Amino acid sequence: MTEVRELFLLQLGTVREVGVPIPAYLLKVGPDDQYVLVDTGCARRVIGDPESHFVVTEDDHIAGQLQKLGLTTGDVTTVVVSHLDPDHAGANDEFPHAEFIVQRAQREHARSSGLFRYEWYRDQWDDPRLRYREVDGDVELRPGLTLLECGGHVPGHQAVLVELPETGRVLLAGDAWMRGTEAETRPMTPFDVDEAATRRSQRRLADLAEELGVALVVHNHDIEQWATLRRAPQSYT
Ligand SMILES: [Zn+2]
Repeated sequence: MTEVRELFLLQLGTVREVGVPIPAYLLKVGPDDQYVLVDTGCARRVIGDPESHFVVTEDDHIAGQLQKLGLTTGDVTTVVVSHLDPDHAGANDEFPHAEFIVQRAQREHARSSGLFRYEWYRDQWDDPRLRYREVDGDVELRPGLTLLECGGHVPGHQAVLVELPETGRVLLAGDAWMRGTEAETRPMTPFDVDEAATRRSQRRLADLAEELGVALVVHNHDIEQWATLRRAPQSYT
């Protein structure tokens, strides 16, 4: 029996050059109604900064998005880190009370590779106050809430598979699956660190989605799909 009751798709701003949404996902999980957040978006100092690669208003920022749902950052008990890129982990420092769950390979890569993207908001995600639980590979966090290791875009990138009472299974594929493409022939983006692993992971997620009869796959930064989805304050149940 799944413990995931509700899924909210949040938009935390856009990527300036291309206008695509920066997504995050909020899960309401029972029986104790805990809130699990997948990714935190951009750092607070990006708000209104015309020089930033990201366009973020006060309302877009994760604190503003939670507020619109009648919540505060303090209501989030767990943060799942898809990966530590600046548009996904830039506001981690807003959740010093939460437990963060990250793939070990991703945290190690972010801390040691010197890749420029991680460094932008390193103070925000590598804040010594934050409690990270490192995991290796697929993990069932709660009944109906499973993390799937799918590195390639970056090592240790993880997707999130949730099961909802009415909608059924939803795969939050993160940056690991480019919609409308085949794994073996898809174009790479300049941000995909390891081509072979990126293809392998997309194949794995696609095969798994078919095998499990996933009802909805949500792809990050996909402006066309995003327009068709139920976004907060609406939700999937
Ligand atoms: Zn991304």
